[in-house]
Formats: sequence, structure tokens, C-alpha cells
Amino acid sequence: MPELPEVETVRAGIAPHIIGKKVKGIEVRNDRLRYPIPKEIEKLYGQVIERIERRAKYLLLYTAQYKVLIHLGMSGAIRVLEDDFELKKHDHFILQIEGDKVLIYNDPRRFGFILIYGVDELIPFLEKLAPEPLSDEFNAEYLYPKLRTRTRPIKSLLMDQEFVVGAGNIYANESLFMAGIHPERPANNLNPEEVARLVEEVKKVLQRAIIQGGTTLKDFTTPDGSPGYFAQELMVYGQKDQPCVICQTPIERIVLANRATYFCSQCQK
Ligand SMILES: [Zn+2]
Repeated sequence: MPELPEVETVRAGIAPHIIGKKVKGIEVRNDRLRYPIPKEIEKLYGQVIERIERRAKYLLLYTAQYKVLIHLGMSGAIRVLEDDFELKKHDHFILQIEGDKVLIYNDPRRFGFILIYGVDELIPFLEKLAPEPLSDEFNAEYLYPKLRTRTRPIKSLLMDQEFVVGAGNIYANESLFMAGIHPERPANNLNPEEVARLVEEVKKVLQRAIIQGGTTLKDFTTPDGSPGYFAQELMVYGQKDQPCVICQTPIERIVLANRATYFCSQCQK
């Protein structure tokens, strides 16, 4: 599933191909995504794509009058190709772009979605999100008070978009390991120092994944449609029974709130 670093990598990967370019055609091949692609999407015709931004795991494509919200869901991928491209299964949405390019949205499981808003319109999906994790707003002063009244395990809260944005399962596991905090600790049991450490590690883990994505990413413009997501160096995630990189204790795996959870029982308290 594309997480924040992957979405950021997609943004950076496609931006140079579409910014400043006019939309010359719109083709909805299958509108049945998580939410149907609205008819209004045709208003993009003739608009110039001015910029593409990311908020949490959402992409936002701006023109002078509109903004398009794209969520990749479980299996969504975007590629930019020459317009003599070969259509693939699950190519649901195609934007023809000035300069003989196409932007293609492919999504086998169709949990993603594409919606259009007026440029000044509020987007409900973005209203309740926690601060962007790589911004200064996301800090211990923000997070500590939010955790103080919560008894759920810290890992579950870390994955709750109203508390922390962008730490999907992999990154929540990795951040807790780096911060030396046991995933099952009740959130209100963390002291301010631990919360500060956790905030720092969430930022570092996401940042490192984005940098890795940028370097290992082959190309968003290869017709084979490799979505551009990347295998990463992971310390605990998927490492059951492997020796901890710090103390050699075998990594444990449990299921916490239905999600695979990995940790070192020695390093994480
Ligand atoms: Zn360890």
C-alpha cells in the first residue's frame, strides 16, 4: 500500500512532466473507484496544471480554477508516458497533456479515488488530519497533550490519522523501534522525553524513506508500469526471528489492532 513516502516520491516523480502543461484530453475508462470519478472532472479540459502538492497521502493537482484530489488507495499507481502508450488492464483514468504525454491512473483494487473541487473549496478529507509530519507543527508540544488522555497502545495511535499523519504500519513499527518504545505501551504512559524521541524518529524514518525512494526509484515513465514503490531497508518490519540490528535478540511479531507488529523485546521498553 502506498504510504506517505511513496506518495511523495510519486509527486516528485511526475511533477516535472506535467507542471505548466495544458490538459488536452480526459478519458474516464472506469469511474468506479472508491468514490465514482465525477462528471465535473471534464472541467479540467484546457486548464494548465500549475502545481502538484501532497498532504498526508493525498495528491493535489492545481489549476487556476480547480484542484484534483487523488488518493492511491491500496494499489493505485500513476505513470506518465508518451501518448502512443499501450493501454494496460486497470488503467481507469487518463489525462492527455500538452507535449504528447499522458498521465495514467492504474488501480487493480480500486480503493483509490479521484475527485475535483473548486480551487477555494474546502476538501472534507483534509479537514481532520493531524499536522504534516515533516513540518515544524508536528512536534512534542503538539503530540504529548494529545496522548495524555489515551490508553490505546501507542502504535495504534501512531497510525491514527487524527493524531499522526503518514506513519502507516511499516513506518509505525520502524519509528517505535528507533525510539526504543514498545508498541503495546499505553499512549498516556509515555513521558515527554519519549514523545519527543518518537516525534524525531517518525520524521527521520519518513525522511529516509523519501530519500531512498528518490534514489532507488527507476522511472515513472517506463511503460512496464512499475509503480515506482521501493523495497526499503527495514530494521524490524517483516524481520521476525531475525537478530535485532542493535542487540541480536530475535525480533518478535505480534498482532496489534489487526496489524502485524514487530519489535525487539530488549531494545523497546
Ligand atoms: Zn534489540
